[in-house]
Amino acid sequence: HPEVDVAAWRKDFPILAREVNGKPLVYLDNAASAQKPLAVIERIERYYSQEHANIHRGVHFLSQEATGAYEAARETVARYFNAAEARECIFTRGATEAINLVASTWGEANLHTGDEILLTVMEHHANIVPWQLLESRLGVKLVVAPVSDAGELLIDEWEKLIGPRTKLVALCHASNSLGTINPAKELIAKAHAHGIPVLLDGAQSSAHLKIDVRDLDCDWFVCSGHKLFGPTGIGVLYGKAELLGAMPPYQGGGDMIERVSFSGTTFRGLPELFEAGTPNIAGAIGLAAALDYVESIGHPAIAAQEADLLAYATAQLEQIEGLTIYGRAARKVALISFNIAGIHPNDIGTMLDSDGIAVRTGHHCTMPLWERFGLTGTARASFAFYNTRQEIDALVASLNKLRKLFLP
Ligand code: PMP
Repeated sequence: HPEVDVAAWRKDFPILAREVNGKPLVYLDNAASAQKPLAVIERIERYYSQEHANIHRGVHFLSQEATGAYEAARETVARYFNAAEARECIFTRGATEAINLVASTWGEANLHTGDEILLTVMEHHANIVPWQLLESRLGVKLVVAPVSDAGELLIDEWEKLIGPRTKLVALCHASNSLGTINPAKELIAKAHAHGIPVLLDGAQSSAHLKIDVRDLDCDWFVCSGHKLFGPTGIGVLYGKAELLGAMPPYQGGGDMIERVSFSGTTFRGLPELFEAGTPNIAGAIGLAAALDYVESIGHPAIAAQEADLLAYATAQLEQIEGLTIYGRAARKVALISFNIAGIHPNDIGTMLDSDGIAVRTGHHCTMPLWERFGLTGTARASFAFYNTRQEIDALVASLNKLRKLFLP
């Protein structure tokens, strides 16, 4: 049995001791962004107070030390996701930038009018709009696979949508709105059987599941540091070396070049090719600290605690009259989207906030998905390993109070 010591874990996150509106903070908006442990906060402070200099170009001590720390962070990321080589991990601003990078470079170079990109209806806007931009630029077509009423991808339907024009499959590993965990390994194998590369959006899976990009065999994997207990403004694009190495440059500038001349410029290889300009050095180092921290807690303990929270919260919320849960997949990450009949989700969010409870309300950047369910949005409670059953009790009590206030 993994050791679950939530009280000890909570002490690692200073913000969890805050009060909001005179109540102890109950932070249930982890799918939007997770909180930061002291290990990350202190690492960033140490970097800026003792170690900062620009990387890669300096001969002086601090520059070399900062370069070492930045590249060590890349090694940590590669180890964490089990990439074959560190140069397969590109630091980006987040999942959004990572997807845009692939769309602009691989997409521009490999897609042509009439080519199809297979998505699912549960994608985040970050995994829709970059491809839509190619739709208008290159004349490619987006094909969208449906989900069941339970919010599970209809795999047979998905597979039927693969055709001779399908050039790319892009899908979320876990849905930020429904919690659904897609059977990524199986889907990737099916796509590969047709010779189609797969981009896996791991923005929501990476904080909950042990990710092994080689076992998944995805061609690209993207995630955001801030949902993984790391800083904002840093994310990762993993790509198989062969594929990344064949992609044209993204942004041009310093650090990504070998030699610049007005008669012709030559570029560096991976990973520098995709990291033009001064990168988010502190962000990368902070992200590595976050990954080390997550590993110190351990994925089995995280999974055990989150499974308990999800089961408990589902059972408790189901008791509330008029409450509907959206997303009933057999495999879910720890989040629950719900509505209460007769109450607008925004009112739910505002009332919960007055009790110090943070949830997200609205479309959660998945408007096409809610259209599928005939909704404009939901309230969403999303959990991390540091949440407790008592916090779920507080959520339920606040929702019951709100029901009495709003409904006859
Ligand atoms: N994909 C999914 C599934 C997400 O949940 C998010 C963030 N809500 C993103 C992509 C985009 O991540 P970011 O805003 O950190 O770039």
